[in-house]
Amino acid sequence: MSSLLQNKIALVTGASRGIGAGIAAELARIGAHVIINHLQTPEEAESVARRIIQDGGSATVRCFDVSDSAAVKHDVEELEEQVGPIGIVVNNAGIVRDRSFRKMSADEWHAVLGVNLNGAMHVCSAVVNSMASRGYGRIVNISSFVAQAGNFGQTNYAASKAGMIGFSRALALELAPHGVTVNCVCPGFIETEMWRSIPEQMRESILKRIPQARVGSVSEVAAAVRFLVDEGSYITGQTLNVNGGIFIG
Ligand code: NAP
Repeated sequence: MSSLLQNKIALVTGASRGIGAGIAAELARIGAHVIINHLQTPEEAESVARRIIQDGGSATVRCFDVSDSAAVKHDVEELEEQVGPIGIVVNNAGIVRDRSFRKMSADEWHAVLGVNLNGAMHVCSAVVNSMASRGYGRIVNISSFVAQAGNFGQTNYAASKAGMIGFSRALALELAPHGVTVNCVCPGFIETEMWRSIPEQMRESILKRIPQARVGSVSEVAAAVRFLVDEGSYITGQTLNVNGGIFIG
């Protein structure tokens, strides 16, 4: 267990499984106290925290809905009183409601924008004043290669993830003088439950489109986040692609 982030508190949204759980474990491994946020799966979130603690790290589980601005504000204020000031935020919580645009309902559109894009805004809004006043902050927004390349049936998801990139660039400019960096990580296809749920034939055809001919691992995404948090003091407003070459740009 390294202590690079000792005394730093990291909030990772949507950390009860998948990429978020991997990021939380990686930040805990280098010494951060991690807050594991989730919405509907308390047992999974508790088990992520237990594993971190067994490995010598420290973690707190906190359930709140990132799409609910009042809930985010309330929970972040309470967490900062109980655990301490949050110096690191990873906006990872995300959902999909896939459907071709001509069949997509307004509810499906708003649900995805509400969690993926508005959620990141709500969390940033709750932490930025305190980060800026202390002169330190690391914000990493988990977007997707779909923001850059598009994907059939994902207009809502692509819009939300592209919005995160524009949001991060503009926020980076505003917060740069205050010691707060804001960056995006854009994963390609990653070995998660979502990938495993895709029918085998479709997975094979996706693999043919990936220049590295494999999906990425959660730990490869977590390593990119760790780099931006731990070594990225002069990196802000950037988009780091972790995608095996599926989108190069
Ligand atoms: P996942 O397994 O579906 O996990 C999503 C996480 O978000 C869960 O912890 C879930 O918790 C939480 N969550 C959902 N809605 C929430 C809300 N309203 N408030 C708080 N937490 C909420 O996702 P994943 O595949 O690991 O993906 C993680 C992120 O990476 C997402 O933003 C996704 O868009 C992005 N991404 C994934 C891939 C991929 O290949 N998997 C590729 C590119 C980008 P509960 O279940 O407890 O609600």
